[in-house]
Amino acid sequence: MTDCIRKKIVLLGATGSIGSNTLQVLRAHPDQLELIGVSAQSNDRKLAEICSEFKVPYAVLTDEKAYEKAQAEKVFDSSTRLAGGNDALSELAGLPEADLVLVAVVGACGLQPTLAAIEAGKDIALANKEALVLGGAFVMERAREKGIRLLPTDSEHNAIFQCLEAQPTTQLDRIILTASGGPFRDTPLAELEKVTPSDAVQHPNWSMGHKISVDSATMANKGLELIEAHWLFGLPPEQLQVVIHPQSIAHSFVQFIDGSILAQMSPPSMTFPIQHCLLYPERAPAVEPTLDFQQAFQLEFCPPDPQRFPCLVLAYDSLRNGGGAPAVFNAANEIAVGRFLSNELSYPAIPHLIEAVLEQLAARSVPDMDSLLALDAEARQRAHDFKL
Ligand code: NDP
Ligand code: MG
Repeated sequence: MTDCIRKKIVLLGATGSIGSNTLQVLRAHPDQLELIGVSAQSNDRKLAEICSEFKVPYAVLTDEKAYEKAQAEKVFDSSTRLAGGNDALSELAGLPEADLVLVAVVGACGLQPTLAAIEAGKDIALANKEALVLGGAFVMERAREKGIRLLPTDSEHNAIFQCLEAQPTTQLDRIILTASGGPFRDTPLAELEKVTPSDAVQHPNWSMGHKISVDSATMANKGLELIEAHWLFGLPPEQLQVVIHPQSIAHSFVQFIDGSILAQMSPPSMTFPIQHCLLYPERAPAVEPTLDFQQAFQLEFCPPDPQRFPCLVLAYDSLRNGGGAPAVFNAANEIAVGRFLSNELSYPAIPHLIEAVLEQLAARSVPDMDSLLALDAEARQRAHDFKL
């Protein structure tokens, strides 16, 4: 393949867990993929290493202080143009040369660059689920208007996307998202009070960033993914289900009206869905070992226990209530997880905080982007102020 048809990739959140999985895919397919833009919040050294390895011409550090320090200390080679701040991140998302923007920053800060990439007419691979939970209505509407290809990178949604290709969604009965159940799937309920941040980030199957690891333990992650699936695939809450599948090999199911079920399966590594998105619609050999049916293994499924996973119930209710409720759920969860990770809140207090903030704010309607962002900010403030 010649250089001129290599797909030009911008990777937002290059220093994170999705970022490193993406770099693994890029290293394996240099003839098809070229990295032309990267971002981090403050990890200047790691970002500079990525820029040197992949000869990346554009980089952004969103934290202004980290940007100024990196400039002063000349951390980046002169061949990389470094910019700082959130506006620079949105500019990077709309880089004229880019073919595809992978949004892998963590949290609601993914919304603005996703919208910027849409406005610039870029194909998007979306790993960041918070952008859709917060602003799904606006993102999907603009993506439709602009004819954007929005490729789901989250493993469950990528699985659904693959199962639905060339299938009429009118004949769909339901989508069933699989969930590992996290590290506390079998922990006696009475012991959850003692769970520490380091216990909560030990995921049994996946190695991920801290925020999503805690979300997986509480199953707030699956709640966010229900809302994400609602926006991506246009289904109402009653057609979206969750099943616990401890092995994380079947990444989700689609069930048609005739009872047939399709699944997408691959080992529990994000390199599989990331590669699918980066090369779409082409396929290429995987960068990691694939499933081996010459070895015996088992797949198990069971319904989630609502008492063990109250965050999942709260997310479901938020989706049913609609309006501002999903945005409030997302903001309260993000702050609750941050406070838990800094030892300010106990593990069982996470759902209590979310429920309290939802009770105060979930009924608000969000007719436009300004009211949505104001509600997000207010929910964050109330979640910061929450005391048990
Ligand atoms: P990480 O915490 O590992 O990485 C986050 C990345 O975003 C880093 O590059 C970080 O930079 C950057 N970042 C953090 N805060 C900000 C901010 N306020 N503004 C701009 N950039 C910021 O997260 P993950 O890779 O685990 O997750 C990324 C997204 O992908 C999340 O939305 C998550 O839900 C989703 N996802 C993750 C999966 C996984 O396996 N990890 C699976 C499916 C979805 P720095 O290093 O400088 O802090
Ligand atoms: Mg997922």
